[in-house]
Amino acid sequence: MTMNLPLSGARLWDSLMEIARIGATAKGGCNRQTLTDLDAEGRALFRRWGEEVGLSLAVDRVGNMVFTRPGRDPARKPVAIGSHLDTQPTGGKFDGVLGVLAGLELMRALHEAGAETEAPLVLINWTNEEGARFAPPMMGSGAAMGILAEAEVLARRDADGRAFGEELRRIGWQGTADPAALQNLGAYFELHIEQGRVLEDEGLDLGVVTHALAQSWYEVIVTGEDAHGGSRMAGRRDAMMAAAPLIAAVEEIALAAVSATGETGRGTVGVVDVQPASRNVAPGRVWFSIDTRHGDPGCLAAMGAAIKARAAGIAARRGVDIEVLDFWHAPMTPFDPALAAHLRTAAAARGYRFRDMPTAIGHDAVYVARRVPSVMLFCPCHGGLSHNEAESISPEWATAGMLVLADAVLAAANS
Ligand SMILES: [Zn+2]
Repeated sequence: MTMNLPLSGARLWDSLMEIARIGATAKGGCNRQTLTDLDAEGRALFRRWGEEVGLSLAVDRVGNMVFTRPGRDPARKPVAIGSHLDTQPTGGKFDGVLGVLAGLELMRALHEAGAETEAPLVLINWTNEEGARFAPPMMGSGAAMGILAEAEVLARRDADGRAFGEELRRIGWQGTADPAALQNLGAYFELHIEQGRVLEDEGLDLGVVTHALAQSWYEVIVTGEDAHGGSRMAGRRDAMMAAAPLIAAVEEIALAAVSATGETGRGTVGVVDVQPASRNVAPGRVWFSIDTRHGDPGCLAAMGAAIKARAAGIAARRGVDIEVLDFWHAPMTPFDPALAAHLRTAAAARGYRFRDMPTAIGHDAVYVARRVPSVMLFCPCHGGLSHNEAESISPEWATAGMLVLADAVLAAANS
């Protein structure tokens, strides 16, 4: 327990508000996109805060900032805390930032108390978690964990054609450390806002994240034949009228995919392209994306099979061709049960109300978990609003998350 450490929710909140001024938007949010001048300013402030409490900083070749605090036993693998300081273009003040600064608060309290831990502690700001300026997201953790190739990350370009590596050097944050060294961490903790409304709706203070949902993305191409809007209905091969029931089926299939634990699937059609896109032409071609997610890999596979079966039935009935192409898959990622137990013990000891839950959203922890025992902790956010300037949390929620994170990290580092 850290009851005797001078952990301060007020100091955490002041720091959240201070860094939010860098890239502050008119509507109260934050625009501090990765590898911009504002990102550099945010990084410099974080470096100053870390150095003020005696942490030593290493920056790796993809710009991940890694602070280390030595432990009593240098042979032990470090226990790490991390998240990200970059934001969406119309982002909020807490997505990512809370997890980094909550870790900083633990470092400040340990420094003030002159306290030591058995294992070394590490505090990480991952580069480009958001993927808004440079796709894909979670590049810093992906490169560190060997999931994304470092050279490919450095070569990615933004919409203006500027390369990730050039921008990293321009803002002065390309270091020399090997990002893959982070695969040797002993444990990784990430506190994050929920970006959903389960915790708030259930009146809970915290969520212990046990796993990340498996995801399968598809591309669907419906091919029929263009027909004049004035032509008879009989005999048309209208790609849109075939796509529409298949799109509706995505929702139906997701809701029907109930696992043994009572979880349903998630199904989203986010992009639709219609050709030739003329008001008076029954379209001959429709392309759309499908994003499916489930905590149970078997249920996710069944959802994919159901979508493909539905497509075949519609195609036969309407005389069109429907291809459902596998586009991308991410496996279900379990988090570490022992680290989750540390979080539950800490939350219960502090008297907070909490539950276990999955994350349906990608986070650095999901990549880190493939190489290092990892876990996440969620705190509520108002209305589930995130990637939005109006994103907000209460100081009490931030404090609860920080205290439980700190207790669990110390339990892991001292056990
Ligand atoms: Zn985030």
